[in-house]
Amino acid sequence: MSLATELNLEDPAVLEHGRVLFEQPCRFVIGCVKLDQVPTDSTPEIAFAGRSNVGKSSILNALVRQNTLARTSNTPGRTREINFFNLGEQLMLADLPGYGYARVSKAQVQQWTGLVDSYLKGRANLRRVCVLIDSRHGLKESDRGVMAMLDQVAQPYQVVLTKADKVKADYLGKLESSIKAEISKNPASFPVIAITSSRKGIGIDELRASLAPLADK
Ligand code: GDP
Repeated sequence: MSLATELNLEDPAVLEHGRVLFEQPCRFVIGCVKLDQVPTDSTPEIAFAGRSNVGKSSILNALVRQNTLARTSNTPGRTREINFFNLGEQLMLADLPGYGYARVSKAQVQQWTGLVDSYLKGRANLRRVCVLIDSRHGLKESDRGVMAMLDQVAQPYQVVLTKADKVKADYLGKLESSIKAEISKNPASFPVIAITSSRKGIGIDELRASLAPLADK
């Protein structure tokens, strides 16, 4: 069993660990459109992936308690770069470009795949990828494609459900079980699914706590 599945997210000491880490100042490092621009230091890193408009910027801002760190936007499919944020010189947060937006060209999809694929393959310090899934929509083909990519490069990832405030609790429970069942056979998937709402602050403390140990290794 891996470290974070053993974590008791109701334990105050575990929550405190996450709180203390994510209270550190967080600064924007660089936005990269090409692989040769990515930071080369070996700070442990966590990446965030998800379809355009999934709530990725909102969750990054909620985790670090800054409203303007990652730019939230109403223009899905616009960001084409990987944005790096350094949290207290202890953890790098990598905001991957959103995917799955219908109105992008084939060339843009290829650019996304090329950049993300080469990033994933060359990132020894990457500890986990959070694959964000909108609670209203569940898994889409594009999410499955990204998970297949992560399985292929043996990069551990976990599902984080977003916008939990938008759906009923019983629906959320069923969604969690069905996603767990579906991804359990994926070799790089992590068996714990985080349920969050940036808007209502649901699950943010627990997500901080489950990610914090990754900065220690
Ligand atoms: P990104 O494109 O994945 O970075 O998504 P954003 O963070 O920009 O959010 C996209 C839209 O979803 C915005 O209109 C946000 O206000 C909204 N949103 C983000 N998180 C939540 C949430 O937890 N609950 C609700 N109801 N809306 C959210």
